[in-house]
Parts: sequence; structure tokens; C-alpha cells
Amino acid sequence: MAKIAIAGCGIGGLAAAIFLHQQGHEICLFERFEKPSPLGSGLLLQPTGQAVLARLGLLDVVKSHGARIDRLYGSEVTNGATIFDLGYDQLGPDRFGIGVHRASLFHALWQKTGELGIEVKVNTHVVSRVWEGGKSLLMTEAGTQFGPFDLVVDASGSHSDLALNLGAPTPKPFQYGAVWASPINASGISDTLTQRYVSAHTMIGLLPIGTMPSDPHPRIAFFWSLKPEAYPIWVDEFEGWKQRVVALWPQTEAIVAQFSKPSDLTLARYGQRTLKRPFAPGVVHIGDAAHQTSPQLGQGANSALLDAAILADSLTLTGPEDVGPQYANARRGPIRFYQAASWLLTPFFQSDVNFLAALRDALFQPLASIPYFRTEMAKTFGGVKTGLLTSAAPENLAHVKSKDQIKLPSSSHR
Ligand SMILES: Cc1cc2nc3c(=O)[nH]c(=O)nc-3n(C[C@H](O)[C@H](O)[C@H](O)COP(=O)(O)OP(=O)(O)OC[C@H]3O[C@@H](n4cnc5c(N)ncnc54)[C@H](O)[C@@H]3O)c2cc1C
Repeated sequence: MAKIAIAGCGIGGLAAAIFLHQQGHEICLFERFEKPSPLGSGLLLQPTGQAVLARLGLLDVVKSHGARIDRLYGSEVTNGATIFDLGYDQLGPDRFGIGVHRASLFHALWQKTGELGIEVKVNTHVVSRVWEGGKSLLMTEAGTQFGPFDLVVDASGSHSDLALNLGAPTPKPFQYGAVWASPINASGISDTLTQRYVSAHTMIGLLPIGTMPSDPHPRIAFFWSLKPEAYPIWVDEFEGWKQRVVALWPQTEAIVAQFSKPSDLTLARYGQRTLKRPFAPGVVHIGDAAHQTSPQLGQGANSALLDAAILADSLTLTGPEDVGPQYANARRGPIRFYQAASWLLTPFFQSDVNFLAALRDALFQPLASIPYFRTEMAKTFGGVKTGLLTSAAPENLAHVKSKDQIKLPSSSHR
């Protein structure tokens, strides 16, 4: 039994805590906020994330709150042309996404953590780790020291101080972020992630996300692409902006009517960083702390869940000393693929490069009419790609049963 510290009570940290506690390890979770809570908009749970939740025994409860998503549809406002129209049925029978309010996913994970009696230290901002005699000590912003621990799991998200203090580069910002909100779903859209574009500089997105545990009204995640530096202008022109959204997409009228002031929406900045080695002696980084990107492909939360499951499996195959390379090798293919795909594809959907938008409009639909590419596109958004030409079933991606399943060390991780 190992003594394990987990920094961050987000999606990855809570999932890791549950898996590792169930293996009999002694877990202590650290959270910087007084009251851990879900930050951020609704999200799309792919079959991969669903497979991890099934292992945790939480899929049914999350599904019961979420909205089943069968299709992804995007079109150009100016001429009505379809940009993409893809279905989960390409991934096999009974495959679908689940649009979920973060509060529902968080609540399910948090409640289970409480039921298992996992120790949580709140109001504890972890900043660095000291490695001494084969054990880790955690240092907090307030100067308190915790430990020694056999293993530290850094699940502290895209602004991880632990990663920065262990030498990680700062994330590269994307040109565009978004303002988002989760109003009541008055759109008439129930099973489709729907997006409207003008070139790539304007994007409106709607994702049904079901209900929250405390509120029976079905909600929808609303997104508007925005450059962070343009936020003050957007605030000043708020009423005019609302009219513009409805003019671009009349179906949003009853959604936009629910926004009475700019603070009803939240600004999200997007950045990209991929740790080459998501581990150091006695530490592993999971989720956004290890690989952050734009949410264009909707994989971040799913990847954090997969990381947690594979980290736990890797620990059963090795001791805490060797778990870092095992875990990193098991996750390397999918993470490389999705980080690269996200970096390459985001400018086609969120940028000022009109040429890329024109290329997107000319190519995506014709390519999707060819069965091979249609399936590859569905596999890409479904989260099951492991490389350019390879993929795996979600259940296999969410479970490592033997060392043979892991491609063992390649030079980049030495
Ligand atoms: C607008 C938007 C839309 C998105 N849509 C999707 C989607 O549709 N599908 C999808 O899969 N992903 C989506 N994502 C990405 C997804 O939200 C993230 O990838 C995911 O939340 C990462 O989980 P995590 O556990 O690594 O980090 P987080 O969920 O960010 O959790 C980190 C936790 O660590 C805590 N913490 C931070 N620093 C410290 C510290 N120093 N000490 C202690 N605690 C600390 C934080 O308070 C937080 O509780 C979206 C992201 C955004 C911004």
C-alpha cells in the first residue's frame, strides 16, 4: 500500500482518488479552493470517458442527468453550407456522446469520494514538491509542508504550479477563446452538438447538457468564439452583440434572451502545452496538467478520466517508483494524436485565417462522403484514435490489464 497525494479536486484528480483508494492505497486530496466545485461549462463525454465512468460505477448516474448526443453538425451562416455532419453510429451500435453539465459530473465524482471517506485538504494551494530520500514532500503557498508521500499525482489542471516548478513550459495561448454559459435549453435542439460559423472568426455553439443534480430544467451549453483581448469591447457592446447572435442564428433567440448582463457569461482562454515527460521521480502529471489544449475536439475531460484509469492500472503492474514511465507509455499514442490534431485543427474553426476556413468548407464534407474518412472523422471526435492510422475500442483504451499492452520505453521518455 502506497501513500499518495493528489493535487487538484477536478475531474482527473477525483477519478484518480477513487481508483487508487479502491486499490487500497492511502490517499490525500489537496484542493486550493475552500469548497471544491466545478469550474467551466458543460462538456461532451465521449465513449472513452464513459468507459472510465463505467469502471467507477458512475456511468448510470451521470447518464441519467446528461443529454444523449448522437450527431455533430456544423454549418456556414452566410450560405447555409454544411461543414460537418457526423454521427456516433459510425463508431458502432449504441455509441453516443453525453452532453453533461460539469456540476453533474463533478457531483457524481465528489459524492463517491465522500462515500469512500477519502481525505480532502481544502484551501491548500500546492506549489512545489521536494524529493528527499525517495519520498515526496508537498509544499503549499502558505509555507506548510505535507508528506512524505510515495507518489504525488499532479491533477491541478492547466495552471499547474507543480508542473511549472518541475520545469514545464508555460502554455502557448490560442488566438481565440470563448464566452460561455449554461442557460435553460429553449433551443429545440436535443441530441446534436450544433455549431454555426462565419469563416473561422465567428463561431456559435450549442451543446445540450441535460440537468444539474439540484435543478430539473434541461440546460444547454452556449459558446461564442472571442479573442480574450476583445472581451472589454464585447462587454461594452453587449446588447448589440445579443442582436447579432440572433441575426446570425435565429434559433438562439430564446437562449440569448436569458442573458441580461455580460457576467451571465464567462470568458474562457485556451492554451496548449504537452509535457514530453509527464512524470519525474515520485510525481506523475495527469489531465490538463500534463496535456492542455483547446476544447475544439472535446477530449480534455475524457483524457483526464483515461489518465486516471491508466495511472491506477499501471500502479498495479509496477510499484510507485516505476509507475511514471509505465503510465506515460500507455497513454503516449492517444495523447500525441489528440494534442497534434487539436493544434492543427483549431485554426480551421477559430482563427482569422480565411484561407483555412475556405479549405475547411471545400474539403470536410466531400471527404466525409468517403466511407473511410467518415469513419476516421467519427473515430477522431469519439476519442478512440491512438495514432494517425490506429484506433482502439473505448473499453480497451480505459483499461490496461498487462504490461504486454504497453509499448515499452522509447527514447523520448528516458
Ligand atoms: C469552455 C471549455 C469547454 C470545454 N469543453 C470540453 C468538452 O466538451 N469535452 C471535454 O472532454 N473537455 C472539455 N473541456 C476541457 C476540460 O474542461 C478539461 O480538459 C478538464 O477539466 C481537465 O480536467 P483536470 O482534472 O485535468 O483539471 P481541472 O478539471 O481543471 O481540475 C483542476 C483542479 O485542481 C485545482 N487546483 C489548481 N491548482 C491547484 C493548486 N496549485 N493546488 C491545489 N489545487 C489546485 C483546481 O481548483 C481544480 O479543482 C473544456 C474546457 C473549457 C475551458
